[in-house]
Amino acid sequence: MQELLERKKGLHRKILIVDDEFIEREMLGEMLKDLYEISYAENGALALDIIKSEKQRLSLIILDLHMPELDGYGLLKYIRSDNNLRRIPVIVLTSEKDAEVKSLQLGAADFITKPYDLPDVIRARVKHSIELAENSIIIHETERDELTGLFNKEFFFEYGKLLDNQNEILMDALVLDVNRFHIVNELYGKAYGDLVLKKIGSFIHNIVNTKEGGLACRSESNCFCIYLPHSDDLKIKLQSYISQVNEVIIDHKISIRIGIYLDDGNSLNMEEKFDRAKLACQKLRSTYSTAFDFYDEKLHSKELRLERLVNDFNKAIKEKQFKVFYQPKYNILKEKAHLTSCEALVRWFHPEFGLVSPFEFISLFEENGLIQDLDRYVWAEAASKVKEWKDKYSITIPVSVNVSRIDIFNPNLENILDELLNKNSIQSKDLLLEITESAYTDNSKQIIETINALRNKGFMIEMDDFGNGYSSLNMLTTLPIDALKLDMKFIKNICIDKKSCRLVEIMIEISKMLEVPVIAEGVETKEQLELLKEMGCDIVQGYYFSKPIPDYEFEELIKKEIRG
Ligand code: C2E
Ligand code: CA
Ligand code: CA
Repeated sequence: MQELLERKKGLHRKILIVDDEFIEREMLGEMLKDLYEISYAENGALALDIIKSEKQRLSLIILDLHMPELDGYGLLKYIRSDNNLRRIPVIVLTSEKDAEVKSLQLGAADFITKPYDLPDVIRARVKHSIELAENSIIIHETERDELTGLFNKEFFFEYGKLLDNQNEILMDALVLDVNRFHIVNELYGKAYGDLVLKKIGSFIHNIVNTKEGGLACRSESNCFCIYLPHSDDLKIKLQSYISQVNEVIIDHKISIRIGIYLDDGNSLNMEEKFDRAKLACQKLRSTYSTAFDFYDEKLHSKELRLERLVNDFNKAIKEKQFKVFYQPKYNILKEKAHLTSCEALVRWFHPEFGLVSPFEFISLFEENGLIQDLDRYVWAEAASKVKEWKDKYSITIPVSVNVSRIDIFNPNLENILDELLNKNSIQSKDLLLEITESAYTDNSKQIIETINALRNKGFMIEMDDFGNGYSSLNMLTTLPIDALKLDMKFIKNICIDKKSCRLVEIMIEISKMLEVPVIAEGVETKEQLELLKEMGCDIVQGYYFSKPIPDYEFEELIKKEIRG
């Protein structure tokens, strides 16, 4: 590490001499080799290979204009137009006045005329060009952050990349952030906030100024990046770092968090490593109890996928990528089960990801409100199917739709549903509304008001996932509901586990007490069906009868029902 910084500060600078004539190359080399490390190339193409592979290390290129293959002008143009190479100054070798002007116009730093001047003159010109180029970088970005004395962000990444290019060693990336720093500034003033940052800065100095080395910078106001040679016991070290930092700033009632990307040799570049460490650090924002965490690839790709789903949503609605499937519900009170209604369940046929399950996107869309648009879309599809089947088969199959907890807060909900009824000339009892039990317990007052209004209009309300939301029995008696839908997980084990069996019995008894029908969901086997029948369950939905299916397949079930 030390060696690297010294090289950058002036020792061991490297110069590339490009000339097709051996003698000329050697003469120049002789003049400079005591002061610089020299590489040689005999034509433009070979020079370009060296420049590309050594771009971080080259301090200067001395270039003959007349060469076979790629000539000096071509090479000069290339270097000046490439962002990664532009910083390297070029001195051209010429013998004509015209060429001097042209090459300066193309961005050469200086020129040396052939035959060569005195060696001292040449050495002075070389030194001058190199210093000028280096100073101009430093003028643009001063190397250190004034407050903490750590590198600034630009130099940090420049040095880090240089280091990565010259070393094979694995490097871990750490991002350190101060929790709720803006509050520190607001409560105690900026000077106090600065003091905290200084203390953290000097602590970080100590971490990187060890034998193993490392680089660090203050990347944003209260955020620090630390680049350390990979260590297997980083976790232990972190624990000690955190307690040391907390000791330094304990009286300030401040805590820090650290996100880490552990280098596993996956050849990510330095920026990519820090992006990931930053993600890990951001994830800790909401949990002040955890001080550090490691980047997790799986989590990251999941987050990226969810972000895509949100971004693609509007297009998907427009292009009708969402398809509504229907799953039949059968009344089992009589000997022969009959089709009584169905549930509309949405699926997303994503052009890239294929079939995406509602389990993946419903809660995501509940978080950001998109669920309202999706539900509206599904309800419209469902209502138009009721109408279509009515017209086609002279039979009314009510469809139950899922009403998300977010929809309940939409003051326009009643109007939206009314419009659908009018548009399709169907009745409110043809559209059953499923509302999950936990929505009732979350916001009982609002939901009761909304549901009463809907029931007054004739809509039937089914309480979905019953048994999962912990409604009290007392509360149940006051809730406006027209059916109880037992959560699938209770049905799953009724034939194998006595407790589940007894629980389902109790839930069916509750429904009798409330005088509403009970629907069992997730019925997959004949045994489950028979047991539920014995217990007095009214309606059954599940793979035993049918999976959720597209509308055209569902029509076959309607036809079968009509045939009897
Ligand atoms: P849910 O409302 O409880 O729907 C029942 C889920 O159980 C459906 O999953 C259905 O395919 C599945 N299922 C039905 N019978 C069986 C069975 O016998 N065995 C098993 N293992 N599963 C069965 P799906 O379609 O993946 O939907 C998952 C959840 O996503 C739904 O749970 C519902 O909460 C939500 N959802 C689906 N469509 C919509 C929608 O249009 N709007 C809203 N707000 N939520 C929806
Ligand atoms: Ca449901
Ligand atoms: Ca359910």
